[in-house]
Amino acid sequence: MRGLTAALFFVLAGYSNGAVPDFQLQKIGNGIWAAIVNDEGLSGGNAGFVIGDDGVLVIDTFQDPQPARAMLAEIRKLTPLPIRFVVNTHYHLDHVNGNDVFAAAGATIVAHRNVRAWMRTENIKMLDPPVTPEKKARVESLTLPTVVHDSRLELYLGSRRINVRYYPGHTGGDSVVSIPDAHVVFCGDMLWKEHIPNLIDASTKAWVESLDAMQKDYGPSTWVPGHGGVANAQDVLTFRKYLADLRAGVRREQAAGKSGDALVQALLPGLKSSYGKWGFFSDYAALDIEQTAQEMLGTKRLPPNPER
Ligand SMILES: [Zn+2]
Repeated sequence: MRGLTAALFFVLAGYSNGAVPDFQLQKIGNGIWAAIVNDEGLSGGNAGFVIGDDGVLVIDTFQDPQPARAMLAEIRKLTPLPIRFVVNTHYHLDHVNGNDVFAAAGATIVAHRNVRAWMRTENIKMLDPPVTPEKKARVESLTLPTVVHDSRLELYLGSRRINVRYYPGHTGGDSVVSIPDAHVVFCGDMLWKEHIPNLIDASTKAWVESLDAMQKDYGPSTWVPGHGGVANAQDVLTFRKYLADLRAGVRREQAAGKSGDALVQALLPGLKSSYGKWGFFSDYAALDIEQTAQEMLGTKRLPPNPER
């Protein structure tokens, strides 16, 4: 399955309103499926699952329990094996809000230690306005991971090994999930394909270094990003270039004495000419400049490290 990025076949799934599917399932390896979301639907971030010898492992659970239930139903069409694990790649709401659906189906939820620490608190800032008491209550009762790791973990579905590995960059609590026997890697939001990333919790310096490490660690695999379609190693380089361009631009304009809105306006047209066709440009490009400027000045607020 090495390097196989073209669709083997598609299944349309997860209709919430009858018009647009919330996600599409794409088979990317033996028993391995990527759930690629529609940006206009309820799902939020990409997810996926791996069917092993004696059970199923799910990677991320969407932004809403409804598409999570739809993905569970799709899994049930493919296999009667139990759902053993969910791995949350990070704490952001668009990757964890269906955890309860899979926990109720019997799954153990696994994540980096910081995901458990941040899920019910830091996600308040991820809510779309207006922040109603109902939305807040939902975040404050999200289903937490019950197994946490600090750097790496191996999970087995019978003889099938799944590697879970921490990389810094997007939040400071991100896990990348790889299936070595199929050369498939689920990156969560450590990788975005043709989408401008949300840098609200990011450390872009560490992130660029992590992408280099991930290239070494996974190379010519099938790469599943947190947002955008199934990717390859070239897409990882393209995404790395976005972060590197952003950092170089901010550094240059700060050296020229620019800050605040003047700095944003100095860089936005250049970013637009290179990346204006990417998804979420109007949502995140200006914010990315501001947040990277804060990072470089050492004034950026990051989620607090939990007590050990
Ligand atoms: Zn994220």
